[in-house]
Amino acid sequence: MLYIVGTPIGNLEDISLRALRILGEVDFILCEDTRVTKKLLEHYKIKTPVISYHQHSDFSKTDYILDLLGQGKDLALVSDAGTPGISDPGGKLIQAVTDKFGEDVKIESVPGPSAVTAALSISGIPTDKFIFMGFPPHKKGRQTFLKKVIKSELPVVVYESKHRIIKFLEELKGMEKAMRDDEENKEKFKELASVVVCRELSKMHETIYRGETEDIINKIKDSRDDQKGEFVVIIGK
Ligand code: SAM
Repeated sequence: MLYIVGTPIGNLEDISLRALRILGEVDFILCEDTRVTKKLLEHYKIKTPVISYHQHSDFSKTDYILDLLGQGKDLALVSDAGTPGISDPGGKLIQAVTDKFGEDVKIESVPGPSAVTAALSISGIPTDKFIFMGFPPHKKGRQTFLKKVIKSELPVVVYESKHRIIKFLEELKGMEKAMRDDEENKEKFKELASVVVCRELSKMHETIYRGETEDIINKIKDSRDDQKGEFVVIIGK
């Protein structure tokens, strides 16, 4: 059995009873950063041994995990925060497990928090339909990414780090202006997109910025503290 377990995105209380039970019952927990997961496990007095498994794990680590499953061990996969597979490792392992074992290993979801759903839930933007685009590429493909965000007819959710949040918002503003100034797109981009930036969701310094991109940039720039932490950006339509 391989369980894919959602864990908190900040507040350690945001974990389901089922997740806690399963983390306590499995033979091993596969995690990204053992220090991060051990903090959670210590908080809940869970003694299950951990195995590190992250985006740079090589084939031999995957083979080792496949061997454990082959021996009939039960495993749980967690990431540092939120739902494994959502801008986090997970997909590769699941693919390897299904390739090797087909239906013989059951893969079960133990749903939990994710920054994307937490941000959407408080955005106030109609979210019955949306597009999740994850992290913007750092270099190659960045302009295309920004264009897709602006052109999308549905609200778009983007993840961004503290190092690049201002840069991303400034580029977004620049791209929006360029497309509005462009004769071909003029009609379509008359309206400014409404943006919601969620910082440090579920943590002590949770801050939500709403409004026009320029105002949000100024607010974040005004305080060094506001440039710390983790960010989700929702671009409304
Ligand atoms: N698997 C996670 C999930 O389900 O949301 C996402 C992992 S991804 C590597 C980390 C990114 O998620 C951060 O850079 C940030 O964009 C977003 N994120 C995670 N926790 C967050 C939080 N508490 N507040 C705001 N954004 C968060």
